[in-house]
Amino acid sequence: MPFDHLLSPVRFLLDSCPAMSASTLRTLRMYEAWWEHEGQHISYAVDRAGTPHVRMFDRFGKRVDEILYITDYWRMLKEGYKAGIVWRVFEENSLLPFFLMDYVTCFYDIGVSCPYTVSISTAVPLDKYGDDEVCKRYLVPMLRRNDEVWQGATWMTEIRGGSDLGANVDTSAVQAADGHWFLTGDKYFCSNAGAEVAVVAARIDDKPGVRGLGLFLVPRVRENGELNFHLRRLKDKIATRSVPTGEIEMRNSEAYLLGAPEHGIYLILEVLNLSRVANAMGSIGLAQRAFSEALRFAQGRVAFGKPLIEQPLMRRQFEERHAEICRSFALAWEAAITLNSVHRETPPYSNRFHMTRLLIHLAKYWTAEVCVQTAKWAMEVNGGIGTLAEYPVERWLREAMIADIWEGPPHRQILDGLEVMERKSAHLMLFEHLMPFVEPEQMQEVTARMERWLLMPQDEKEANAQTEFNILAQFTADALLGRMRAEVQEQGLVARRVTER
Ligand SMILES: Cc1cc2nc3c(=O)[nH]c(=O)nc-3n(C[C@H](O)[C@H](O)[C@H](O)COP(=O)(O)OP(=O)(O)OC[C@H]3O[C@@H](n4cnc5c(N)ncnc54)[C@H](O)[C@@H]3O)c2cc1C
Repeated sequence: MPFDHLLSPVRFLLDSCPAMSASTLRTLRMYEAWWEHEGQHISYAVDRAGTPHVRMFDRFGKRVDEILYITDYWRMLKEGYKAGIVWRVFEENSLLPFFLMDYVTCFYDIGVSCPYTVSISTAVPLDKYGDDEVCKRYLVPMLRRNDEVWQGATWMTEIRGGSDLGANVDTSAVQAADGHWFLTGDKYFCSNAGAEVAVVAARIDDKPGVRGLGLFLVPRVRENGELNFHLRRLKDKIATRSVPTGEIEMRNSEAYLLGAPEHGIYLILEVLNLSRVANAMGSIGLAQRAFSEALRFAQGRVAFGKPLIEQPLMRRQFEERHAEICRSFALAWEAAITLNSVHRETPPYSNRFHMTRLLIHLAKYWTAEVCVQTAKWAMEVNGGIGTLAEYPVERWLREAMIADIWEGPPHRQILDGLEVMERKSAHLMLFEHLMPFVEPEQMQEVTARMERWLLMPQDEKEANAQTEFNILAQFTADALLGRMRAEVQEQGLVARRVTER
C-alpha cells in the first residue's frame, strides 16, 4: 500500500528525514512503542475526562493552586520528559531530537506536546541568557531524567489581545534598589499553568510599544517557599484537554531579567521561533494521525460493493492528501533544520537568521492550514461516525483548530512574514537557498510575483497577503520536497541499511 508508511510516525520520519542517527532512531522507536502500548490509552481517557480542575486551598486554608488530573496523566506527561524530549537537546547540543520527538508526540496527543514545547522554549532562552546562578537553580531541575523533572511555560498574552503585544502587555516590571526584579500583572492565556518556571513578557519602565518589553524568568515558588503567583482559574475550552490553560495573577512576583532590557522583544521572538517550529512539526504529526484514521476506515468500510479506498474519487483524495502531507512536512523540517543552525545567535542577527524567520512563518502558517483541512477531511471520510465522541476522529479536528491559533493565528504569520520580506528582503535569501531545486523559469516567475506584491500600496498589499503567502508557501514546500526526496535517496537509504543491519 503506498500510504502505509503514514500509519506509523517513526516510519514516516525514517522515509522523510535522511541521515537520522542510529541513537535518535532507537529513541524514537522506543517512544513510539510506549505510545502504542500505553500512552494512547491514557491519552484517550484524559481527553474523555475533559478539562482538569483546580484545588485552590489545602484543607487547612493554605493557598496551593494545585491542578488535578487523573493519576495516569502524570505518567503520560513524564514519559516524554524521561525519554529526553528536553534533556536530549542539551546533551546532543541540537534542537532536532526535540522536534522529532515532538512529531511523534503529536501523532498521539498534540495537547501533551504543549507542555514539552513551552518547557523547551523556557529552557533554551534560560540556558542562553540566564546567569550561572539562575541556571543552576532553574535549568538544572528541568533537565532531570526522572519524575522530579521541572516544567516550563511561556506567558505573553493578556486580556486585550495576543497579536499586538506592544499595545496590550500591561504587566509591569520594577527593579528594586538591590537589583531584584518584581512583576505585577495578569496573563490571560497560560498553558501549562502548573509549571515550576515560566518565561514572561513584561513592560520595563513604562516604555511604550514592543521596545518597552522585557523577557523574565518567573518561578512558581518565592524564595520564602510561598506561591510566587496565583492561578485564577483554568479555561474551559474545546480542543486540547491534556494541557491545562489558565489565567495567572502576578503581584510583586519575584523575577529574573533574561538578556539585556533593550533586547526584550528579540528574546520574545526567539521563544516564538522555537514554539512555532514545534507547532509546524506537530501540525503535520496530527495531520498524519488524521490521515491514518481515515485510511483505516476507508480500508474497512464497504460501499457500493468495494472498500472506500478502492473508489476512484476517494482514492484520488487519499493520493492528494498524502502528497500534501509529504510536502508540508518538508517545509516544517526545513524550518527545524535552519532554526537549529541559527538559534544560538544573539542580536544583531545574520541574514540567515532573517531567512529562517520567514521560513518559520511560512511553515507555521501552512502546516496549520493543512492540519485543519486534513482533520476536516478525515471526519468526512469517516462519515457520521467521524462526528461521534466515542471514536477518535472528532478529537483531531478539535485539536487541529488550536494548532491554527496558538503561537499566533494565520494573519499574524502572514503579516510578520510580509514584514521580514519588506525589511530584510528575506524572500530573496530564501530564493537563493531554494535555487538549486527549482526550474529557473519557475523561480523567475515567483520572484517577479513577490516583487509586484511588495510594491503595492500598504493596504492593498495586506489585503492580498494571504493569496501571495499561499503561493510562496506552496512554492517553497514543493522545492524542499524535491530536495528532501533526492537526499533521502542519496543518504537515507544508506543510513537505514546501516541501522537495520
Ligand atoms: C488554548 C490556548 C492556549 C494558549 N496558550 C498561551 C500561552 O501559553 N501563552 C501565551 O502567551 N498565549 C497563549 N495563547 C494565546 C494565543 O497565543 C493567542 O490567542 C493568539 O496569539 C491570538 O491572540 P488573541 O486571541 O488575543 O487574538 P487578537 O490578537 O485579539 O486577534 C484576533 C484576531 O484578529 C487577527 N488579527 C490581529 N491583527 C490583525 C491584523 N493586523 N490584520 C488582520 N488580522 C489581524 C488575529 O490573527 C486573530 O485572528 C493560547 C491560546 C489558546 C486558545
